[in-house]
Amino acid sequence: MTRIFRTLPPAAAPINLGDIVSGIRGLLRAETTSYRFEEELKEHYNIMHCYTLSSGKAALTLILQALKEMFPDRDEVLIPAFTCYSVPSAVVRAGLKIRLCDLDPETFDYDYERLSDILSTGRDRLLCVVPVHLFGIPADIDRLRSTIDDDAVIIVEDAAQAMGGENKGRKFGTQGDVGFFSLGRGKALSTVEGGIILTKRQDIAAYIGRAMKGIPCYGALEIFGLFIYALALMILMRPTLFWIPKSIPFLRLGETIYDPHFKMRKMSSFQAGLARGWEKKLQQLSNRRMENVRDFQDRLKMISPKSSWADQRFFPCLIRFPLRIESVHTREAILKMSERMGFGIARSYPDSIDRIPALAADFASRHFPVAKDNAEILLTLPVHSFVALKDREQIADLLAKAKHI
Ligand SMILES: *Cc1c(COP(=O)(O)O)cnc(C)c1O
Repeated sequence: MTRIFRTLPPAAAPINLGDIVSGIRGLLRAETTSYRFEEELKEHYNIMHCYTLSSGKAALTLILQALKEMFPDRDEVLIPAFTCYSVPSAVVRAGLKIRLCDLDPETFDYDYERLSDILSTGRDRLLCVVPVHLFGIPADIDRLRSTIDDDAVIIVEDAAQAMGGENKGRKFGTQGDVGFFSLGRGKALSTVEGGIILTKRQDIAAYIGRAMKGIPCYGALEIFGLFIYALALMILMRPTLFWIPKSIPFLRLGETIYDPHFKMRKMSSFQAGLARGWEKKLQQLSNRRMENVRDFQDRLKMISPKSSWADQRFFPCLIRFPLRIESVHTREAILKMSERMGFGIARSYPDSIDRIPALAADFASRHFPVAKDNAEILLTLPVHSFVALKDREQIADLLAKAKHI
């Protein structure tokens, strides 16, 4: 049965009417709009080179294609065994091979003991390592760099979920040799779809710039599609109406699919226009999320002082609040109740990367227990700007009843 009451999306970066008007203005002044967006990004991130595309996975693919040109003898990309399916999709799209490393269950970063082992073999085949700021939790790029201890291996920082966040005063997206953001639907900031590449390395930028020339622009019909999608998001992401898209099966909301055949385009001036005023908007949205995160942390401490959140690690700017539930059974019970009540609690990714059917043959005898565990017992709480006090109270009540956090 479809619920037609207040229903929270698991993640949301609102698009409002003003943004859409700016988008249309952007179309009318195409060159200045796109140029201005890229210049603002360069200035904000204090970086020389910036490229904008149709998605985060298009951005990652282009980076990998450029690196492949640059280092033709190397063809392996090391990624976490539990991450967004867009990451392996992009590696395969770029014609490269996936190497996996399991996670540390506490930090959601690489398990560094395993990482050292994995780096010790076949290093001359390794093109790059991709650290991911999963949910916005900082991955330790300094530690990664010193563990790799080899300048020939490039660090590609996946800040798709972390635009606007920072760690020890250094902005996410600028810590690796090259980094990227996503401006997709459920990310920190959204232009319906979009991706941004940042790099301070002149040599990498030269290759990316060349690869960028082969990327087509959006067609007129595709831009019209983006416009309609932006209108739909503006109206239907609101908690009062979100039950509508949620009940339409072919939209496949919240599904994570592995698919290397995605489109790659240069970002349109409509999207650059949608992003107008992004610095202020991103700051506001980030502040709201941080307030929600802190509130959840406080509430969880009262429910379960032993939860991994009791140590008061400071999580700057999550786009979803991850929680490991100790049993599969309890997790399913929480999800079912949330579904009924419209709380927007969600699973994370459906499986570890080695268990994606199209890739499984490459990892037949390998196991990534933490990644597999995450797929089975992880929940995420919504923290976006539509989440209100009442929602947080009700979600905390539900978790207290479930009692296993
Ligand atoms: C969303 C995401 C991507 C890809 O971004 P899209 O814009 O959706 O293509 C890549 N990596 C991570 C970790 C993501 O969450």
